[in-house]
Amino acid sequence: MPGNLNFHNPETGQQCLSRPALEGKLSLVKVTFLGSGTSHGVPVIGCKCPVCTSEDPRDSRMRASLYIQGEGGERVVIDTGPEFRLQALAAGIERLDAVLLTHAHADHIHGMDDLRVLTREKPLPLYANADTIREMRERFSYVFQETQRGGGKPRIAPEAIEAPFVIGNLRFSPVPVKHGVLDILGWRITEILENAGPRDALAVHTVVYLTDTSAIPESSWQLIRNADTLIIGAIRVQPHETHFSFQQAMETAERAGGRRMYITHISHDLNHRKIEEICRKFREDRGLKETAMGPAWDGLELSIPFP
Ligand SMILES: [Zn+2]
Ligand SMILES: [Zn+2]
Ligand SMILES: [Zn+2]
Repeated sequence: MPGNLNFHNPETGQQCLSRPALEGKLSLVKVTFLGSGTSHGVPVIGCKCPVCTSEDPRDSRMRASLYIQGEGGERVVIDTGPEFRLQALAAGIERLDAVLLTHAHADHIHGMDDLRVLTREKPLPLYANADTIREMRERFSYVFQETQRGGGKPRIAPEAIEAPFVIGNLRFSPVPVKHGVLDILGWRITEILENAGPRDALAVHTVVYLTDTSAIPESSWQLIRNADTLIIGAIRVQPHETHFSFQQAMETAERAGGRRMYITHISHDLNHRKIEEICRKFREDRGLKETAMGPAWDGLELSIPFP
């Protein structure tokens, strides 16, 4: 599925499939939205609203999660929500090098047991901040206790991290953000290119994933600016105590100045088309030519950099 069908050429306003190719080496990272919905998912159980009964497949949203595939074979998932098994099947995930967590809310971790089949050969590294790791050890205590052999359990190697680390040719940097009063992590993923000078110099090879964010500390902005692709959680039009609104997500993207921004962690308040219109109108009103914006949908695949 082309990743930018919904974007518009900033010069002509026409829908476009691609931008002019960048010069130089184009090595690609692929990211797939395994889910783009808020905590209850869409449709919501028992809800008969127009969005929950919509026939547009983009209005069905599983819990938010991102799958990252590097050209060197790197395979990483951010968050393992309750639908992880279905998402892994849909995306054809056969193995993983690591799982990254943003925080320990149920909609981001309750599929962790299904990692089991991916950890048969060796334990799977799990990276998160110290609070999240502590919470995981409590919530999934059976995973970390010695029990009888047999009976399936995922083999997880949790590691609390504060600094960037490398898997293959990808560098993963934690991005501290606020989720209400909680300190959680966004993730910046940059491809390490040979002869590229400072490792993080080529922002065009960078994707930043910030879900469940309500505020960005000043010190985290340097990790967000000018990314090729910025993904931001925003649940609805109205303000919310622990999540960005659409407006706040778009203002973040405007300030960050990257090439495109996708909204994720979306509720059933508005359908996909209406959120697209909101994004289009914001860009028009602000005269924003450079940064494309739109809502993500489940199964959407993007190439980094933006082709
Ligand atoms: Zn969430
Ligand atoms: Zn509904
Ligand atoms: Zn949350």
